[in-house]
Amino acid sequence: MDYPPSVIMRMLQTGIPNLEDKVLRSFSIWVCLTCEMCFARCPMSIDIPKMMDFLREKSINEKKANPKAKEIVAFHKSFLDSIKYTGRLYEIGLFVDYKARTLKILDDLALAPKMMKRGKLNLIPEMIKDRSGIASIFRKSNKKNKN
Ligand code: SF4
Repeated sequence: MDYPPSVIMRMLQTGIPNLEDKVLRSFSIWVCLTCEMCFARCPMSIDIPKMMDFLREKSINEKKANPKAKEIVAFHKSFLDSIKYTGRLYEIGLFVDYKARTLKILDDLALAPKMMKRGKLNLIPEMIKDRSGIASIFRKSNKKNKN
């Protein structure tokens, strides 16, 4: 991380636009694993993982994502697209989408047959029943992010 989570929170707390810009351009927001360790220990009960999620979306919307995080951003978008269209994680769709975004077509390809053999990759995506509900969540979230 270029800034630890506590420093990120302090930078945002100051309300100084230049510091918010630095946060949105930081690498830290992309390497947060949402493990919630900081949240569990925060004496002020700040939901830092949720803040990180918000900052990642804002960073993408404002086209400020750190160039070092290019592949993480690609994975983030592929993951969200999978959820958006199926309501679940569709691994093959995620894999193909991520490869198309990063052009790393051959990386990890050797793992695919092993994963298929173990039943970890389904050819047909499982869809949830209420896909319109998911679409509505994404619409509302996009609308909020634009305001
Ligand atoms: S959620 Fe985990 S990885 Fe993310 S900032 Fe907190 S402690 Fe670090």
